[in-house]
Amino acid sequence: MKPLGPIPAGYEAIDGELAIGGAPASHWVEAIGRTPLFVYSRDRIAQRFADLRAAMPDRLKINYAIKANSFAPLLKFVSTLADGLDIASGGELDMVRAVDFDLSRVSFAGPGKRDSELEAAIGSGVTLNLESESEAERALAIAERLGKTPSLAIRVNPDFELKGSGMKMGGGPKPFGIDAERVPALIRSIIGAGCDFRGLHIFTGSQALSAEAVIDMQAKVLDCADRLASEAGVNLPKLNMGGGFGIPYFPGDKPLDIAAVGHALDRRFAELPDTLAGAELFLELGRYLVGEAGVYLTRIVDRKESYGETYLVTDGGLHHQLAASGNFGTVVRRNYPVAIASRFDAEAEETANVVGCLCTPLDRLADKAHLPRAEVGDLVAVFCAGAYGASASPSAFLGQGPAEEMLV
Ligand SMILES: *Cc1c(COP(=O)(O)O)cnc(C)c1O
Repeated sequence: MKPLGPIPAGYEAIDGELAIGGAPASHWVEAIGRTPLFVYSRDRIAQRFADLRAAMPDRLKINYAIKANSFAPLLKFVSTLADGLDIASGGELDMVRAVDFDLSRVSFAGPGKRDSELEAAIGSGVTLNLESESEAERALAIAERLGKTPSLAIRVNPDFELKGSGMKMGGGPKPFGIDAERVPALIRSIIGAGCDFRGLHIFTGSQALSAEAVIDMQAKVLDCADRLASEAGVNLPKLNMGGGFGIPYFPGDKPLDIAAVGHALDRRFAELPDTLAGAELFLELGRYLVGEAGVYLTRIVDRKESYGETYLVTDGGLHHQLAASGNFGTVVRRNYPVAIASRFDAEAEETANVVGCLCTPLDRLADKAHLPRAEVGDLVAVFCAGAYGASASPSAFLGQGPAEEMLV
């Protein structure tokens, strides 16, 4: 038997079934007419924003990194809660345009921006987070051609990283951002070229569960921003402090202590240096805001035995939930939180492998899990499916096509 990841707090049973957004899982499946299905809960997302805002200093703004989940109804809902949206491609810019959001509160980071993407961003007043000096030159030339003043920020590749982070995005040679030591000169040159300077962006990693690591990272981000701004001789209008807040996915993971992070920020914000005193200060978060609000529902289509093990074969799989299969940035495969949604309050009584319907041994949703006895027709729930599920899985693989998605 292998342990399952922790089911996020607050999921309960109605009539023996897992409830999502106040109704049993089967209700949503019937409403949409088929499985697999991602169900995202408005209430959970709103509650997450409220809890986070209560824990953080009032002046701290919260941006949503839309790559975590860009399902149009969800994006529209989150855009009413977030102070800004962070995008990383021209395609994501089109998605944001479709939800009627103030584009001056959108910033566009990401390496390898094409000229057409720079042009679309500058033309619509989106802030570009510059990833290199050559990107700065291209952006300035495009702005001149368009007769526009570009809004430019600089993404810093700092000389530190987020400890214990699932995915490291700063410290040492990286395709992201501009090495810290070259940033002051670039600040001066883009201001000299007449841009609307929008400050700095320092993102150092993702999926941290240790408050201590986040507090340490945020202190270094503030120090680094102050040092670079002082060297350039400017006060910063904005500082995007990155994010990195993680959610528990695996056995033994504990939620991030946001109260501790908030208290440490309160202390830092009370004594900001002149370079930061007037800055708008931002966090940019993806999975923390929406990850636990989503559940992936898939139906068991076969139950079989093989050399003494039980396999529950579902109509879903890694083509929708790549991360849960263990093939998206994890080294050792561990089980996500998984349950039999249609028997959510039944006692676990057998050990079973939950697999997807793809012809590859990589397609596993839970290994040797202790679960209630489930039959063909039962619904399986994979939790923590609100981020990097549908938007980060190869849905075209094996001709399966995308899952349904619903915001409820
Ligand atoms: C992916 C990404 C995020 C969001 O990461 P989460 O782990 O989902 O919070 C934020 N900022 C940048 C620059 C990113 O690349």
